[in-house]
Parts: sequence; C-alpha cells; structure tokens
Amino acid sequence: MNSKYKKIETKIIHSGEPHPLIDGAVSMPIFQSSTFEYWGADKYEDVRYIRLNNTPNHIALHKKLASLENGEEALVTSSGMSAISTTLLSLLRPGDHFLVQDCIYGGTFGLITKDLKTLNISYDFFDGNDINSIKEKIRPETKLIYLESISNPLMKVADIKGIVKFARSNNLTSIIDNTFATPINFLPLDIGFDLCIHSCTKYLNGHSDIVAGAVIGRGEMIGKIRDKLNRLGGSLDPHACYLLHRGIKTLAVRVRYQNKSAMMIAQVLESNPQVEKVNYPGLKSHPNHNVASTLFGGYGGMLSFELKGGLDAAERFLKRVRIPIVAPSLGGVETLITQPARTSHASMTPEERNRMGIGDNLIRISVGLESTEELIDDFIQALQN
Ligand SMILES: *Cc1c(COP(=O)(O)O)cnc(C)c1O
Repeated sequence: MNSKYKKIETKIIHSGEPHPLIDGAVSMPIFQSSTFEYWGADKYEDVRYIRLNNTPNHIALHKKLASLENGEEALVTSSGMSAISTTLLSLLRPGDHFLVQDCIYGGTFGLITKDLKTLNISYDFFDGNDINSIKEKIRPETKLIYLESISNPLMKVADIKGIVKFARSNNLTSIIDNTFATPINFLPLDIGFDLCIHSCTKYLNGHSDIVAGAVIGRGEMIGKIRDKLNRLGGSLDPHACYLLHRGIKTLAVRVRYQNKSAMMIAQVLESNPQVEKVNYPGLKSHPNHNVASTLFGGYGGMLSFELKGGLDAAERFLKRVRIPIVAPSLGGVETLITQPARTSHASMTPEERNRMGIGDNLIRISVGLESTEELIDDFIQALQN
C-alpha cells in the first residue's frame, strides 16, 4: 500500500508513478518490449518477461491499483474474466465447495456452472439479502464466498457487511467483484474483504476501448494468484496497460459525475407515467437503499427500469432514443443502453428471467458523461406515446 497519499483523487494521479520520472516523462511511457536484459535474477518469476506481468507498465499499474483499493498488492489481467478465473482456480481445488451470490455476472455464472463444475468444485447460490439462507449452505469443505457489490441488471446490493462478518467467523476467503461500484464509491478491503476484483474494461478504464481485469488484496494471496496467472498466461498487453493507466487518472471525476447524473435520471424516470419501476440503489424506493447508503459514497452510474407496455414499449424506446448507443458493456464515457432479456440474459428462458425479475420490458442504462439535461430530454421524448 502506498501511504504517501491520503485521498483517492491524489492516489489515482500519483500512486505507482515511477520515481524518478523516466527520462522526465510526465506520462508513463509504453514499454513495448516482450523481454528485458538479464539482470542476475535467480528465481523464474524475477526474470523480466512480458507474460510474467513484470514490465514497467505492469509494475506501475499494480502499485496504482493497490493504492486505490487500500490493498497491499494488485495484479492486472487480460480481462475481467481472466482475473475471476485465475483467482478462483488459485484458491479452489477438486473436492472444495464455495458460496456464490445468485444474481452474478453471466460470464462468472458460466465459469462456475460449466468449468469449475467439471473440476469437481461444487457451489451453492445464496440470496445476498438473506444471511440465514447462507448459514444453512455452509459445509466442512466450504472454502470461499463470492459476491458483487452491485448486481446486474436490477442493481441489488447485498448485506455486504453481514456477509464479510459471516465469512470471517467461518474462515472463508471473501471475494467481491467491485466493478459496478468502483473504488470511488466503495472500498471493500476496508471493511474486511480478502480480495477485490474488477473488470477494468468498465469504469476503471472508462473509455470503452480495451479489455482488462484486476485483483487486489494481501501480498501473500496476490502472489499465489500471480504465480497461477504466470502459468495460465492471461497477461495484459503493455499498450492496454498504458490505456488503463491513463483512464484511471480521470476515474474520480468521471464516477462522481456519473453518480450525480444517474441519480437525476433515475428520479425523472421514476416520476414518468410511462415507467413502471426504476431500479437504482440511490432511490428511496429501492429495496436495498438503506444498505447501499450505509456502505457507499455514491450509488454509481448504472440503473435499469421497466416500461409500461411490455416488449413493444421497450423496443420502441430503444428505437427512439437519440443520444445513447444501444450496445452491451458499461462504464464508458458514452451512455449505453441494453435490453437484458435480449442480450446479457438471452440464454435463459422467459420463466427463468421472470423469476429473477428480468422482464422483456426492462431497459438497462450505463450513464455516460453527456449533459444530464440533454439525456433527460432525450429519454422523455423517447417515452412519449
Ligand atoms: C464485464 C464484467 C465482468 C467481466 O469482465 P470482462 O472484462 O468482460 O472479462 C465481470 N464482472 C462484472 C460485474 C462485469 O460487469
């Protein structure tokens, strides 16, 4: 952890930057070299080679990310899924069992139910707002617990503090995917999580132009995950490291603007007669509003809402909006909208989706950095009958 800087706004700019500056360069240069001159290292992982995640671009980024999340060490990976798969494969072995939040990211769900299952690693899903249901699922071979700070697409917030406490008292490694909340709104390691994971493809990079991931935590655990990553090979390319490093520098201003903008949009949508329901943890009507307000510094830039009039109304809305781009993914500077029933949750049956509360009339919005006022005007015109 870099204790030199106290506040996250300062850390995102200065933590991890090389000292002295490389040839005086104020911006971290790109070291586009796959290998580095032998310098007398005697351990394999000390050999400087691009897949071993130890180029100057990796090192600077690791220090910056560790500092941001108040962790000892960090590791960047070739995607969010690479961070998740490498972490779970490092910590679980055949015969182990673990607990997973029920409304998890689709890629993570697939990894667990398809790949880990074939390795004889078993799991149970739990409802993040029902601690008692978690207690019933623990077994002698239960090793870890995995959840997300804000879930997709209903923006549910689990009883995160209760879950960490439960994990501690049962000796479970606790892992949280903090992609939706970002370290600007929530610092999971501060409340006792062992590991914090990001899809850096989203807010941390923030410009919809790379794929990357990260895992942050105590040095000994990150070291274990780094050894696994070195063997599995999911290293981030130096050019992508550079873009991520550059993107992180504006994280605080971006996320704070997105927090504010999403809150205003959520309020306007909630009062619109064409809207059935809005899912945003910042709204008092959200079932997890109280939990979210005690945990988070802001409620994030993601929201979803249901339109009156079902599938037809949702499709008409997507056709009518002018500013947002209809595309998957999130966390960029441009507002993106999707219809989860047709994209991220399309592989489920309508019944399965309904059980999860994902109707055909649900629209998800990743609020960008455009004028809030202009976005609101656009949404209102698209909602008109
Ligand atoms: C996108 C996403 C991932 C996967 O990240 P990639 O960078 O696409 O591999 C994992 N978790 C959450 C919450 C995500 O939104």
